[in-house]
Amino acid sequence: LHDAIKPGLIVHCEEDVEKVKRRVELEQILKKAIQEKSFEVNYQPIWNVETSSFDCAEALVRLHDPVFGSIPPMEFIPIAEQNGMINDIGRIVFEKVCLFLHDNEPNRYGLKEIEVNLSIFQLYVENTDVMFRNIMEKYGVTSKQINLEITESSALNENGIVKEHYEKLRRLGFTFSLDDFGTGYSNLIQVISNDFKNIKQDKGLLWDTKNPNSHKFLVESINMIRKFRLDVIQEGVETKEQLELVLNAGANKIQGYYFSKPLDAPSFLDFIRSRNAS
Ligand code: C2E
Ligand code: CA
Ligand code: CA
Ligand code: CA
Repeated sequence: LHDAIKPGLIVHCEEDVEKVKRRVELEQILKKAIQEKSFEVNYQPIWNVETSSFDCAEALVRLHDPVFGSIPPMEFIPIAEQNGMINDIGRIVFEKVCLFLHDNEPNRYGLKEIEVNLSIFQLYVENTDVMFRNIMEKYGVTSKQINLEITESSALNENGIVKEHYEKLRRLGFTFSLDDFGTGYSNLIQVISNDFKNIKQDKGLLWDTKNPNSHKFLVESINMIRKFRLDVIQEGVETKEQLELVLNAGANKIQGYYFSKPLDAPSFLDFIRSRNAS
């Protein structure tokens, strides 16, 4: 019996060792990237149906390591949230976005605002609002140019500290988008009452082709949000069929590979300069 179990156990341990090794290496890479501020920010255009223009974009962090190559945010953001580095990463991303706005004045090409992801862990710490304000002052950026994206869990968090810090950011003039709507449990009445600028409808329902109710539910969901006069950004639109489905449902902003992948800053500027020209 002992021999029969042993090989399995060894594999299991080796897997764990590999995981721990990777994690330790990643933390080193993150630490270095924070010191060198070497994170990059890509911009994914968002199509506004009513104005027929790309007047918004989502800022998405990118990490490239000379040895590891590109490391996706889905891998390093959760780690950074656990070890607290998310606050440094959030600051660097925010500063890069403000620098981008300052240097390029993309409003010349019709860009009205940029969506910046805000982790709930940035709402646990005391000074996020002061930090944002100082950075905006440094680059002559106003909170009107930025929309903060938060997930359901952070928006509707019962924790007093989170709520308090969220309100501080609102008082600075930030508006908010509710990210990944339709993934978790949502208290609809709270969602509707929370005064979000945009509700970002998650790609899960849109991409589900197995369950016929998914698309039905998606259409009803978009319909309902629009009835409350909130803007719906549909994420993950890749095909013409998907585009038609969500347009018919009333989505008024579209984000996805159908229009563009996230682009580095120069390519993004080229994109809005040519596509918004008319
Ligand atoms: P998210 O906030 O839901 O961002 C949208 C993700 O969907 C992005 O992945 C984007 O590249 C991807 N996407 C958009 N349209 C399509 C499409 O049509 N097809 C496909 N296949 N994918 C599409 P990305 O950049 O890998 O980011 C993943 C997640 O990492 C984000 O999900 C967000 O939760 C987190 N993240 C990214 N940047 C930041 C950041 O600066 N701060 C924080 N806190 N989190 C970030
Ligand atoms: Ca987002
Ligand atoms: Ca705004
Ligand atoms: Ca999302």
